[in-house]
Amino acid sequence: MMNRRNSLKLGLGMGLGWGLGLAGPTATAGPVSYAAADLAVARQLIEQARGSGEAWRLANELAVGIGARPAGSDGDRRAVAWAQQALRGLGLQSVQTQAIKLNVWQRGPASARLLTAQGERELVLAALGNSISAPDEGLQAEVAWYPSLAALMDEPADPARSRANGRIVFIDQKTERARDGSGYGRSVGARLNGPVEAARRGALAFGLRSVGTSGGQTPDGAPTNPQRDAQRVAHTGATRYDLRVKPIPAFAVSVPDADVMALAAAQGRTMRLNLRMENRSDVPATTHNVIGDVPGTDLAHEVVLIGAHLDSWDLGQGAVDDGAGVAIVSAAAGLIAHAARTGPRPRRTIRVVLFANEENGFDGAVAYGKAYANVPHQVVAESDFGGGRIYRLSSRVQPAARPLFGQMAELLKPLGVEAGDNDGNPGPDAAFLMRNHQWPGLQLSQDGTRYFDVHHTERDTIDQLDPSDLQQNVACWAAVTWLSAQAPLSFAPLPALRR
Ligand code: ZN
Ligand code: ZN
Repeated sequence: MMNRRNSLKLGLGMGLGWGLGLAGPTATAGPVSYAAADLAVARQLIEQARGSGEAWRLANELAVGIGARPAGSDGDRRAVAWAQQALRGLGLQSVQTQAIKLNVWQRGPASARLLTAQGERELVLAALGNSISAPDEGLQAEVAWYPSLAALMDEPADPARSRANGRIVFIDQKTERARDGSGYGRSVGARLNGPVEAARRGALAFGLRSVGTSGGQTPDGAPTNPQRDAQRVAHTGATRYDLRVKPIPAFAVSVPDADVMALAAAQGRTMRLNLRMENRSDVPATTHNVIGDVPGTDLAHEVVLIGAHLDSWDLGQGAVDDGAGVAIVSAAAGLIAHAARTGPRPRRTIRVVLFANEENGFDGAVAYGKAYANVPHQVVAESDFGGGRIYRLSSRVQPAARPLFGQMAELLKPLGVEAGDNDGNPGPDAAFLMRNHQWPGLQLSQDGTRYFDVHHTERDTIDQLDPSDLQQNVACWAAVTWLSAQAPLSFAPLPALRR
């Protein structure tokens, strides 16, 4: 075990230690381990987190007090002001903003009416982020229905040889419910790439089944019912265009509406859609990252970054995505800052970064990476999967540091957390930084079984969060953040990434 004075000397004397991944003598004497005193502080932090209402308070202030906050909006401006005050109030230092100029997309009104020989149905829909408008007079065309993006792509990218030509393409790709969110990973490609693939084949517009799990799933071919219709909600989210392909309007419809269309398709009925949609693109705006530190001591020049994204989509309150993450990492750093006032201070600098515009461009992550490219980062991690309980701790660190993660997982075991592998995904902004700057990462996996019921919808509201689940999250983040700052060796270099 290494005492503080020893580590201070080594930290200063080993300016090259970063590249070698060594910060202390324990690295050469068998597997590394944490000092008992550091583990004791981590245990204390866990206890404090379990009795703290800070994350719940912060989530309420942001989600209810401010609400939706897409980048560049009034809500975003108020959230940036609030976040600075909140971080200062939690005892963080050097609280600052990083201004980012960008062009934003803004949603306008939208409607869609489904017409079949059997009758008409008003669909619940949401424009996908970045979608262009439909023509002023509206767009009416026959639907070309496909069960998946793959089925569309089976047709040649040539209007003359595709069913999509002159029609509104509809992709019925289903999102499966999964604890780890893997169902979303398998379906979101349809949202991201669908409009371009449809346009390549001559489509006039693009629609898809909401990429989400709201409204439940009915067996193929089963009709929907009024009870489910009352639950209709559409999931938005970014899509993208290709400069070489003419952009077409893009939207998502609710799951029960997609079921109605699937039934009509199965019965071979002709469907027509009457679409109206008005959005604004390329509106000049400014947004901000908000950054606050708990300053380190002997290794203060190295940063332990814990983040979340401050922006949200315009539907709902952004409570789950990502008000919860903002509240969790801020409260965790606040606990450490509070403890440091009278007790032990962290070795490395602990930094909270509340990223700007994760939802539609990653501008905050890009700007942070540019500004701090030359600052060594011990680890980057982000809480961006709602407020569900944490069940696993994974890493992306040099193999010699893995025993430290074993010790962290052991500490979190009573909270229901298991040890994961060295293949963690540290969260969207953090993963971008990990890949682009070769900074190590860690992941605290949350139960996302119900996350995609409300994600990117008007149902993303404060009642979806559970105060005691937030406490469990804060406990895990506080302990892992503190121990990352105290580690007797660097987590770098990042092991080779598979892609
Ligand atoms: Zn998010
Ligand atoms: Zn999101």
